[in-house]
Amino acid sequence: MKTFRYLYGPVPSRRLGRSLGIDLVPYKICTYNCIYCQIGKTTRKTLTREEYAPVTDILDEVDLFLKEETSSIDYLSLAGSGEPTLHSKIRTVIERIKKITSIPVAVITNGSLLYLEEVGQDLLEADVVLPSLDAVSQEAFSKINRPKEGLFAEKVVEGLEKFRKIYKGQIWLEILFCRGVNDGQDELSAIKEAVERIRPDKIHLNTVVRPPSEQWALPLDEAEMKRIRDFFGENAEIISEFYRDPSSAMERDIKEEVLKILKRRPLSISDLSEGLGIPEEELDRHLKPLTQERKVQIRIFSDSIYYEIKG
Ligand code: SF4
Repeated sequence: MKTFRYLYGPVPSRRLGRSLGIDLVPYKICTYNCIYCQIGKTTRKTLTREEYAPVTDILDEVDLFLKEETSSIDYLSLAGSGEPTLHSKIRTVIERIKKITSIPVAVITNGSLLYLEEVGQDLLEADVVLPSLDAVSQEAFSKINRPKEGLFAEKVVEGLEKFRKIYKGQIWLEILFCRGVNDGQDELSAIKEAVERIRPDKIHLNTVVRPPSEQWALPLDEAEMKRIRDFFGENAEIISEFYRDPSSAMERDIKEEVLKILKRRPLSISDLSEGLGIPEEELDRHLKPLTQERKVQIRIFSDSIYYEIKG
């Protein structure tokens, strides 16, 4: 199997089904350093847009992948080891992909740069944009997202509002809640007000479900999430765990695939099973030697076992 530098997966995505990730920025360049980030701490916090990865190389890989891949993919997702809208040529990537495939293109973004007109324009050809908005008060915004200096919560909300006016595709807004940080009633009311201005097609409510960057980023429980869902109304849903029937196990280098997918983020055995289409028992046979060889380590979070690349 060809090893790709800019593509990962297909990975199980709770919102996008089976999604092929396209990594537009290297680890870990972002405008934020969120306390709940599952990728790890931001090493370069910036607002500077650049061609962080060569567009021709990214598109060559997409081309090759689409020629070789036979299983079904629900979305091509522009995301990455950081914030994808920091890539100055994201528009070229989207437009070229739209010319070579009918698979819908999703952009998973923290939404922080949408206040820049050029960023909004760059995303117009995408089929769905999934921005996040975790806080509206500057205090909670600073605490949960730890943005680059110069970024303000109100500016982010305005950017999202502006984007809604020019973008014809779907906007699925994610709000991630951390206990004691952005779950107070005042913050909830302020976020709801902002959401009413932004008018997303869907509101995805989330909490800390994977090992976070900071141990003190704690999840809300199910009852609290349901209460928040009811507060946000009928457009809101708690994003539930992905499920797809695993396809039959194929002859392939499973260990390599496991290592590749874990390089991006920690996953449970059921995540791995769903993403790779391999039964858990089969995966278990490969995970054991990988942990013995110290290539993979186990991390317990919220009473669940996650596998991650040994740091
Ligand atoms: S969660 Fe997203 S926005 Fe936040 S630090 Fe990680 S990559 Fe950046």
